[in-house]
Amino acid sequence: MSGLTGSQIVAGRESRGGLETFRAHDPRDGAELPGEFHEATTDEIDRALDAARHAHESWRRAPRESRARLLEAIAAEIEAIGEILTARATAETGLPAARLEAERGRTVGQLRLFAATVRDGAHLEARIDRALPDRRPLPRPDLRSMMVPLGPVAVFGASNFPLAFSVAGGDTASALAAGCPVVVKGHPAHPGTSELVGRAITRAVAAVEAPAGLFSLLQGRGPAVGEGLVTHPATRAVGFTGSFAGGRALCALAATRAEPIPVFAEMGSVNPVVLLPGALAERGAELATAIAASATLGVGQFCTQPGLLLALAGEATERFAAALAAAFEGAAEAPMLHEGIAAAFAAGCGRLERSGARRVAGAEAARRDSWGRPRLYRADYGEVESREDWHEECFGPSSLLVVCDDAVELLEALGRLPGQLTATLHAGAADEELAASAAERLEERAGRVLFAGVPTGVEVSPAMVHGGPWPASSDARSTSVGTAAVRRFLRPICWQDAPPTRLPPELRDEAAGTLPRLVDGRPEAGPPRT
Ligand code: NAP
Repeated sequence: MSGLTGSQIVAGRESRGGLETFRAHDPRDGAELPGEFHEATTDEIDRALDAARHAHESWRRAPRESRARLLEAIAAEIEAIGEILTARATAETGLPAARLEAERGRTVGQLRLFAATVRDGAHLEARIDRALPDRRPLPRPDLRSMMVPLGPVAVFGASNFPLAFSVAGGDTASALAAGCPVVVKGHPAHPGTSELVGRAITRAVAAVEAPAGLFSLLQGRGPAVGEGLVTHPATRAVGFTGSFAGGRALCALAATRAEPIPVFAEMGSVNPVVLLPGALAERGAELATAIAASATLGVGQFCTQPGLLLALAGEATERFAAALAAAFEGAAEAPMLHEGIAAAFAAGCGRLERSGARRVAGAEAARRDSWGRPRLYRADYGEVESREDWHEECFGPSSLLVVCDDAVELLEALGRLPGQLTATLHAGAADEELAASAAERLEERAGRVLFAGVPTGVEVSPAMVHGGPWPASSDARSTSVGTAAVRRFLRPICWQDAPPTRLPPELRDEAAGTLPRLVDGRPEAGPPRT
C-alpha cells in the first residue's frame, strides 16, 4: 500500500538529503509499517524557508479569491485520497477507521470554512478614517488600515489528531487563509499519513498555480528539525499543537532569537468539570455515564478530556462516584497512539497515586504496556491541596475526582487551577448562588466555559475558542480552532495619505460593499452580505 517515498517535500519537490531514517509502527501490535522516512537536514530546512520567504514576496498581495481557491483545492485533494489516507492513518495511530473518516471530514470542512472566511474578508478588519483637511486645530490625514500576512509560519502537528491537527490541520489552514506560506514539521508517530497529506497539498498548490514555496513538509524524529524551523531567520510565527513540555521548549527557543517571533502553542489541560450538589441529585447517574464516556473516548487522548472532576461531599456525590467508578470499570482498554504517550500515561498515573489520590476503578494492569486502561482516582481536597501537581494533565483515559468539604473549599480549589482549554459547570435548580461564583472563577481560568455537557468535541465555527490562559496555551488572546484562528498569523498596517494605487484593493474607495469595512468608525453601507 505504501507508495511512500519517505522524502521531504521542499517547495513542491521531493528531497532526500538526510542519511538518518526512521519508521512508523502500528500501535496495536508494535509491527513495523512499510516506508522508511528520512530525517530532514539543515540544508532542507534552509531551502524550505528560503522558498517560503520568496513565496511570501509575491503571495502576500494575492487576491482573496486565489487564497480561497487554494484552500478548496487542498480540501478536494484530501478527499480524493480518502481510503488510502484512512488506511495508513489507522495503521499508524490505531484509531478506528470511522473516527479517522470523521476527522478527515472535519479537516476538509475546516479548509472550506476558511475559504469562505477569506472570501468574506471580515478577517482583514479593513478600516478607513477619511481625511479631515478642515479639522481644527489640526487636520486629520487619510488613514486606512487592514491586516496583512505575517510571513512564513512553522507548524507542528500533534499525534492525537493525525489529520485535523496535523499537516493540513487547523494551524496550516488558518496560516494559509491569512496568506502565509507554511513549513510543517510532521509528527514522527504518523509520517506516512503526513506524507500523503503533504503530497495532496503540493498537488493543490500546483493546480491553482500558486508559488511552490507556499508549502513544505519536513519530517524528523527528535527536536533538531523543529529547533531548526523555530530559529530560522525567515520564520515569522509558529503554530504548535502538542504537549506542554514541547510547547514550552519552543516558546523558550523563540524568545532567544535575535528577532523574537510569536509562538502560538496549544498545549494540555485537565478540563475541570464542576458538579454541584443540585445537579448530582437531579441527574447524577446520567452525568456519571456521560462523563465516563467523555473521559475514556479515544482512550482519553483528547486535549479536552475531562481529567479533573470537582464535587462537594454528600450523599449525591457518593451515589455519583459509585456510578462513575462502575462506568470506568466497564470502559474498554485499547492501544494508545504511540509508546511515548503510553509511557507518559503510566507516569501520570504514578504521579497521581503519589499525590495521595486513591485508584477507585481500573485496578488491573492493561493487557500490553502500550495500551491504556481506563482509571478513576479519588481524593479529598484536603489530601491533595498541599501539592502543586494534583491538577497536572495525565494524558489518557483517567480522571481524578476531588471531593471538597464545602463551597469555600471548592471555590478555593477552582481559584488554584492553572489555565485550561475548557471548564464545565453542572448546576441544578438548588445551586444558583454557588453556580454564579463558580462560573466566575471558571471564566478566569478557561478559554471555553460549558454549562452542562462534556468538554470533548470541539465545534469548528466562528465563535469557537480553543485556547486559554497559560499553560493551556502560550497566548490567551488566541484560538487554534475556528475562523478566529486566522488572526494569529496577521498583523495590522496603516497607510497614511497613500495614493489609491499604493493601497491594497480592499482599502480603495471602489471596494465599498465588497467586504465589511469600518469607515469613520461606522460599518460601511454596502450590498447585503449573504
Ligand atoms: P508532542 O510530543 O509535544 O509533539 C508535538 C510535535 O512537537 C512533534 O512533532 C514533536 O517532535 C515536536 N516537539 C516536541 N517537543 C519538541 C522540542 N522540545 N523541540 C522541538 N520539537 C519538539 O505532542 P504529542 O506527541 O502530540 O502529545 C500529545 C499532547 O498534545 C497532549 O499533551 C495533548 O494534551 C496535547 N494536545 C493539545 C491539543 C490542543 O489543542 N491544545 C490538541 C491535541 C493534543 P518530536 O516528537 O520529533 O520531538
